[in-house]
Amino acid sequence: MVYEGGCLCGEIRYRIDAEPLSAGYCHCRMCQRAAGAPVVAWVAFPRDHLSFVKGDPLAYQASPRAVRRFCRHCGTALTFEYSSDTRTVDVTIASLDEPNATEPVYQIWTASREPWVHLDGEAPEF
Ligand SMILES: [Zn+2]
Ligand SMILES: [Zn+2]
Repeated sequence: MVYEGGCLCGEIRYRIDAEPLSAGYCHCRMCQRAAGAPVVAWVAFPRDHLSFVKGDPLAYQASPRAVRRFCRHCGTALTFEYSSDTRTVDVTIASLDEPNATEPVYQIWTASREPWVHLDGEAPEF
């Protein structure tokens, strides 16, 4: 299975030739700010199966532990990588061409979850 996606303006396109490892919602304040959204849905893939086939996203060292990549032109949040774990990369589900190809099954950082966010099905919290 091949997953493809990209940013809002089309400058960045990526391709993943692997199955997703896991998918979940993140309620942390950094995701909220990076995406300008109350919650971000991420899907994890093996990192060496992700390639940017068009454009070169900007890498932002959001913390000592993590790098976020986004389109320098339109700002779409694309990926999240832990410095300490080089095996996986998280991809924003909403930037996939077919966001319904995977479904978040857990949620993290619920301490900073906005009280007005209501998720259908209520994925288990960690
Ligand atoms: Zn863009
Ligand atoms: Zn987060």
